Amino acid sequence: MSRARRTTVQVAIGPVRVGGSAPVVVQSMTNTDTADVEGTARQVMALARAGSELVRVTVNTSEAAAAVAPIRAWLDRSGVAVPLIGDFHFNGHKLLREHPDCAMALAKYRINPGNVGRGSRRDPQFAEMIEMACRYGKPVRIGVNWGSLDSDLLTRLMDENSALPEPLDAQAVMRSAVVLSALSSAQRAEELGLPHDRIILSAKVSGVQDLIAIYRDLAARCDYPLHLGLTEAGMGSKGIVASTAGMAVLLQEGIGDTIRASLTPEPGGDRTQEVVVAQEILQTMGLRAFTPLVIACPGCGRTTSTFFQELAQQIQAHIRARMPQWRREYAGVEAMTVAVMGCVVNGPGESKHANLGISLPGTGERPVAPVYEDGEKTVTLKGERIAAEFQEIVERYVARSFARLTPGGDA
Ligand code: SF4
Repeated sequence: MSRARRTTVQVAIGPVRVGGSAPVVVQSMTNTDTADVEGTARQVMALARAGSELVRVTVNTSEAAAAVAPIRAWLDRSGVAVPLIGDFHFNGHKLLREHPDCAMALAKYRINPGNVGRGSRRDPQFAEMIEMACRYGKPVRIGVNWGSLDSDLLTRLMDENSALPEPLDAQAVMRSAVVLSALSSAQRAEELGLPHDRIILSAKVSGVQDLIAIYRDLAARCDYPLHLGLTEAGMGSKGIVASTAGMAVLLQEGIGDTIRASLTPEPGGDRTQEVVVAQEILQTMGLRAFTPLVIACPGCGRTTSTFFQELAQQIQAHIRARMPQWRREYAGVEAMTVAVMGCVVNGPGESKHANLGISLPGTGERPVAPVYEDGEKTVTLKGERIAAEFQEIVERYVARSFARLTPGGDA
């Protein structure tokens, strides 16, 4: 990928590399009670199988800390190697001290410098967490959050600002405070002995313009890898659009080494949606390939039936369901593109650009569906079995076009 990368520093989180020449990494977070070993392990597995390369769990109580090593053991028994990240707040120093098995089982600690204690207790508690990271050889994400900004720092900056001849507006001071909190905490961590290449920074805010301004500033002022995400992005399309709008601008500028789409699931909704969205942001930007892309036209008055929408949905579902096995068996299959088009206006043209394409009959057109493979028309489908026959064509295309991997993963 040609975008310029901002940082040369690379941080190892277990077997996963973040920053430098490493691809942008997808991460997610559980919403189970971490003390529930089975429930949390199952959700971590679901997130990992959906493609999350790092999974964060909250570690907020002694019971949660005690559950981390059993969760890790459960994952290892299930063959799921995804690194676990511990999300710590007010009592993280105590939990890490009292639960060394938790401290060891986690691959990274996330520390929010605004939530590690108040007043005179902040510095020693932050220091103790950094000392634990040094002792266990773990990297740390210093994750500042707009909603829990260090109030002493913010007050000081507000006071300094109001004394200026031309004070900045409060929003600009808030942005500066977020950046300063992240940078000064990282500097403090290094003074305490944490190596430079064991630090990742993040600055979560809930406004797109704030996110862009803050990350541009951070990227200009340090070379730590950056974790990117809009916090409290929201539900449904609003959350997806807001996350994409903010992160895409930054990713295009080479800013961001790991991302999360912090979506609020619908009640009873699937937590893995945030993984799919993060992957789709990266894949549609051409930064990574995770699963074959289905290109479908939006439909219009030329096609009155829902048949092509259903076909596009079936093909998408078929590809997602087959991908875990294909990924093990075929090299590069994730880069395949499949076009499912509603009629012949744009169908053949779009189909020729994709690896595989089908144009369904529009209203008043002959009830036939031409299929293109690598730009050439190979067959015309008709009758009741168009969907099933096209899926068979996809299967044959994958088997024929992508090199077989050996069990070890080599082509
Ligand atoms: S390809 Fe045909 S059905 Fe699809 S949007 Fe274009 S004109 Fe409409």
